[in-house]
Amino acid sequence: MLQLKNISKSYTTGSFTQIALNDVSLDFRKNEFVAILGPSGSGKTTCLNLIGGLDQYDNGDLIINGTSTKHFKDSDWDAYRNNSVGFIFQSYNLISHLSITDNVEMGMTLSGVSAEVKHRKAVEALEKVGLKEHIHKKPGQLSGGQMQRVAIARALANDPDIILADEPTGALDTVTSEQIMELIKEIAKDKLVVMVTHNPELAETYADRIVQFRDGKVISDSNPPDEIQENTNYQLKKTAMSYFTALKLSGKNISTKKWRTALTAFASSIGIIGIALILSLSNGFDKQISSYESGALSNFPVTINESAASIDLSSRPSEDAGKKDKKWKEFTSAGEIYPYDPSANTVMHTNVLSEEYLKYLDGIDPALLDGVSYSRKVNMNILRSDGETAVPVDTASLNFTSYPDKPAGVEGSYLADYYDLLAGSLPEKSTDLVMVVDEYNRMSQSILEALGLDYKAANISFDDIVGREFKLIYNDDYYIESDGMFKLNGNAANLSAMYNSGNAVTLKISGIIRKQQDSPMSTMSAGIAYSDSLAEEFITNAKNSSIVKAQEQQEQVNVLTGKVFSQVSGMGSGMGMGMSFSMGNSSASSDPGSSVSKEDTLAALGAVATPSSISLYPKDFEAKEGIVKYLDQWNEGRSDKEMIVYTDLAEMVTSLSSGIMDGITMVLIAFASISLVVSLIMIGIITYISVLERTKEIGVLRALGARKKDITRVFNAETCIIGSLSGLLGIGIAYLLTIPVNIILKSITDLSNVAQLNPLHAFGLVVLSVGLTMLGGFIPAKFAAKKDPVVALRSE
Ligand code: ADP
Ligand code: MG
Repeated sequence: MLQLKNISKSYTTGSFTQIALNDVSLDFRKNEFVAILGPSGSGKTTCLNLIGGLDQYDNGDLIINGTSTKHFKDSDWDAYRNNSVGFIFQSYNLISHLSITDNVEMGMTLSGVSAEVKHRKAVEALEKVGLKEHIHKKPGQLSGGQMQRVAIARALANDPDIILADEPTGALDTVTSEQIMELIKEIAKDKLVVMVTHNPELAETYADRIVQFRDGKVISDSNPPDEIQENTNYQLKKTAMSYFTALKLSGKNISTKKWRTALTAFASSIGIIGIALILSLSNGFDKQISSYESGALSNFPVTINESAASIDLSSRPSEDAGKKDKKWKEFTSAGEIYPYDPSANTVMHTNVLSEEYLKYLDGIDPALLDGVSYSRKVNMNILRSDGETAVPVDTASLNFTSYPDKPAGVEGSYLADYYDLLAGSLPEKSTDLVMVVDEYNRMSQSILEALGLDYKAANISFDDIVGREFKLIYNDDYYIESDGMFKLNGNAANLSAMYNSGNAVTLKISGIIRKQQDSPMSTMSAGIAYSDSLAEEFITNAKNSSIVKAQEQQEQVNVLTGKVFSQVSGMGSGMGMGMSFSMGNSSASSDPGSSVSKEDTLAALGAVATPSSISLYPKDFEAKEGIVKYLDQWNEGRSDKEMIVYTDLAEMVTSLSSGIMDGITMVLIAFASISLVVSLIMIGIITYISVLERTKEIGVLRALGARKKDITRVFNAETCIIGSLSGLLGIGIAYLLTIPVNIILKSITDLSNVAQLNPLHAFGLVVLSVGLTMLGGFIPAKFAAKKDPVVALRSE
């Protein structure tokens, strides 16, 4: 049934080649007890390993039941060892962390025998070798003879055709040896038993046939068979270790090293604890911040200014270009202002707040709005004088607008609440003007020039500005009629006369204001602002002025220039949002002489107001999203020039804070990850040590028919268990730590329950832990699989 045909095998170590078997041919009967005798190093073990498929021959052929093994694949050898061969070793080679029953069952476990059958067969085998009372013990609790009996039971359990025993009594005393030999002889009644021994007496007493080896050759054979029974129907049942078996095997191994495992799991859980805590804190802070912000920021307006300093129109404005300029100091305490040229480093975008757009704004769902506040622009005739000559002030370059009113229902004074007074006093009378500077105390040169100040100076004292006076001239004094047409009452003498006349209204810059630090509600841009009552007074007066009345009668031509108006669309009625505004193109010149439509001309003459800034106050945070979405819709498909750029202050604050939070989280996680890398390396080392410790076990498993893959699986299972343990431990500890952390945070910040571990994060971290430890153990596991079973079994 088993035939060795001209088998040769040699081992090469370095440059030295040792011939272990030299042209060995042997035939074996189906049932016989063959003893192989020979001096040490004569090739007995090598021969046995080749027969058992643990080692592969170099030349010749091994024929099993008439089947050549020349073309056997690894899996065929594995199956052969598992199904057809039972090994008995001198040193028993039991897996010490498994019970003896589990040891006996292992071969069957590998070939997928059901648990019930497996257990029954194992108990039968153990009964047969006389260990009925010991089946619940572990190998360490048995004597040498008993352990060898377990090994015999293991070899028998899967009911193989061939039992191979390599000096099975080598480590036993004489009495025990004889008992074991009796047992083997009993087995040989219906199996082929090949036993290596160096004890000729035992061989003589028990064996049916004695084969002598010397120097890798057979030198005598006491009882060779005459004819060979051929049996060609040879089928092997393939083996495979289930994941569950791998887990059980490693679980039992790990449970014998509880402290080491616990410490390893704890050490590698530290990174997980760190990350879990960071995530739970940032998670909690994010929640707290966004709930705080949606409360606190809900009344921040979305503002649309006629002139928006912005470079990137597609994003939310507006990073002030000046911020990058180091020479400006934010919120300086200096008592002066700094002239600058805004066009030098900023692209100014003009929002054309056309009638169409204002109508569009009318369409905002009123449920979203708490209120709307406007800052308006009325063209007034203003003169300034150096004491001798008076000149007109170009209000267009003055950013001359009214300061906003608070939206309906909001108490208090807009200027007092949202601005700091730098010099002078806040406006009290309707004729008081106020200068608004930016956070760097800067003021556009063009504005300063229009005010008649030395705009080229590096700095201008507040004193030069506060108290500065101007005269407001009503239309009837400013324009004179001749032959139904009007003209500016404009020569120098007339202007000075107007300036000094009793009809002129004195305007005075009462103070200089600046937005409060951290107050996003201050939406006015730098310039000169006046009160609404002044604007209304002028409008009322202008409406009754002769020039306006004349222009109202006149549809076709500009009453100042006599020029025919070009056809301009955009005739409109009232617009329902507060006071009525000019319906023309509100960006039109303030010079009535260059107006190209009747509406523009009327606006330029101060008969109607135009909006210069609109603040939309949302009902709440969600409503703001709705408003912003509505504003974005307008911009869809429009060119950059036509777009209306708005400022969403709440969004800017929120994205800034969540951006900072994200940044901090990332940095902290990066730090915590270092400990993950450390644990990765540590797991690699631990697994490598485990591989070294379990070398023998690897050999045994391979002898029992385990595939290379199964060995990898065993160690992957081990790292998987450690990874899960450390992941779960880490999450558990992190969860417990959130309790004191929250108590501490509560006492410091008054925020409760900040640290909250998101279950999804927890799950992700356990998966990460398992993944990383398996990665760390991957190379050692592969290394284990590559171990030569023969070498593995030889190891001590
Ligand atoms: P025996 O069992 O008869 O004592 P072995 O079969 O173990 O002898 O060894 C036969 C020869 O082959 C010896 O010289 C031994 O050193 C050599 N040998 C066996 N296995 C290996 C191996 N894995 N690597 C190198 N040499 C080996
Ligand atoms: Mg040997």
